[in-house]
Amino acid sequence: MHLNPYGDGAVNLAADLANRRPGTPEELAERCDAAGLVLEGPLCQADLDRTLALLDTWEGVVDAPDERQRAERLNRLLAVTASHPRLTDHADGGWHLHYRDDHLPLAAVLSSLIAVGTAFHLVGRGMHRLGRCAVTECPTIFADTTRTGRRRYCSQKCANRDAVRRHRTTRARTDAART
Ligand SMILES: [Zn+2]
Ligand SMILES: [Zn+2]
Repeated sequence: MHLNPYGDGAVNLAADLANRRPGTPEELAERCDAAGLVLEGPLCQADLDRTLALLDTWEGVVDAPDERQRAERLNRLLAVTASHPRLTDHADGGWHLHYRDDHLPLAAVLSSLIAVGTAFHLVGRGMHRLGRCAVTECPTIFADTTRTGRRRYCSQKCANRDAVRRHRTTRARTDAART
């Protein structure tokens, strides 16, 4: 995975991993692979542990109460995961930017990708475009990459659930008004 200027791939991967935490290094590798992130070598238990710790910090960015705190939390994460940008052509994809040193452990590569990708997503699309599903009992995190930026639910299923609930509340109120 190369970071594109909007960071979608990386921020969506972070949300996917945070929503359903991988249980083994093999599972983490498979999930990265499915997201198009090619890892140069096998992952070990330490990579998994570091990635899970990163996801805890990243969830703090998701749950920040306002934009300024979101920026501060992400800046702290960038400070420990990213370094100065550098041009590289290590892969077949041609010249691209890395925001990290070469030859780092895979967990560090993943951390830098997630932090920088999230930063690109938020400044490119809008600081509010990261959060949890509007259904109270649903803790699912999503990055809003829609055109309008007004996505509220993690899935169509949750959107329908909420619509049915709102309909029932309205009807109950109308019925109460009639009696
Ligand atoms: Zn690269
Ligand atoms: Zn949901």
